[in-house]
Amino acid sequence: SREIHLASRPEGWPVDGNFRLTEVPVPELQDGQVLVRNTAMSVDPYMRGRMNDVKSYVPPFQLDQPLDGGAVGEVIESRSDALKPGDTVLHGLGWRDYAVLDGARARRIDTSLAPASAYLGALGLTGLTAYAGLTKVAEFKEGDTVFVSGAAGAVGSLVGQIAKALGARRVIGSAGSAEKVERLLELGFDAAFNYHDGPVKEQLAQAAGAEGIDVYFDNVGGDHLEAAISVLNKFGRIAMCGAISQYNTTEKPTGPRNLALAIGKELTLRGFIASSYNQYADEFAALMAGWLRDGQVSYDETFVDGLENAPQAFIDLMKGANKGKMVVRLG
Ligand code: NDP
Repeated sequence: SREIHLASRPEGWPVDGNFRLTEVPVPELQDGQVLVRNTAMSVDPYMRGRMNDVKSYVPPFQLDQPLDGGAVGEVIESRSDALKPGDTVLHGLGWRDYAVLDGARARRIDTSLAPASAYLGALGLTGLTAYAGLTKVAEFKEGDTVFVSGAAGAVGSLVGQIAKALGARRVIGSAGSAEKVERLLELGFDAAFNYHDGPVKEQLAQAAGAEGIDVYFDNVGGDHLEAAISVLNKFGRIAMCGAISQYNTTEKPTGPRNLALAIGKELTLRGFIASSYNQYADEFAALMAGWLRDGQVSYDETFVDGLENAPQAFIDLMKGANKGKMVVRLG
């Protein structure tokens, strides 16, 4: 079997040389374990943080050890009572062709509802991030105007569509290309702009108009966050989901220089980690199934083929090569 190891820790932008494709034997199954042939794996921005040797809410990847992350696959062999060969499962041992793990750490998924890869995105943690961040963290309510950055990405594109489905007054998105902006309008965003076209603050103020915005779902940080603080209405709420503009820089970020505006506007800024909202997974799954069925929400996926191309897919993800969820197909 093949797996991808972390060969060295990236400084700034990751490069191909930080990764190594390694051949390893598939271990014998122990009682309770299953052998899974992975068919798809997720690459996610949070993995960049795990490549640094720092303590965070997930432990860092270890040098010369396989990376891990979300994956789906087919059970080939089972010594677990819970799973049988042929089952399609979701688990946490991506970045490899074959995974051996405890049956209790793999969850059977229903591929009659959606293809397996959707459980890495819209029907999985990506979807929960969008839903919980919007409704629980930012306390979205009907009639709110919502701005979301990274809007053509996996989380962002769902945030905008979920907000519309829940009765947003208007939804505004920002993304990194004209093609992505066009896609956002197709997905039902009321306004969208390319943040490369000019200062975010000016473009956001123009898109928001006199009505301003009530909720900002932040995937980007930096100038996007500063712009949102300027444009937010009184009692506005910010869900701090990610700060991808800072993940690969080696300079110290400049803060939102206008943070003091939060006082007079009585803003709420709240960070969150999706896994802390697991208690809403069932509520979300039921709603999402309905929205997908009714066509109120649709999800994009960008596929890259082959385990050997997973490191590049990860690098390209952070450079914006994806529309919707970036997924690496295996086997
Ligand atoms: P995406 O699918 O959104 O992919 C990342 C996107 O970020 C790229 O496509 C790129 O699009 C954009 N991007 C890269 N650099 C910049 C930049 N300097 N400024 C603006 N945009 C940039 O990934 P996800 O949907 O998986 O994740 C989105 C965010 O949510 C990330 O910040 C991630 O860390 C966070 N997250 C947080 C979770 C939590 O529990 N808090 C859980 C999951 C994700 P473009 O072409 O538009 O630049």
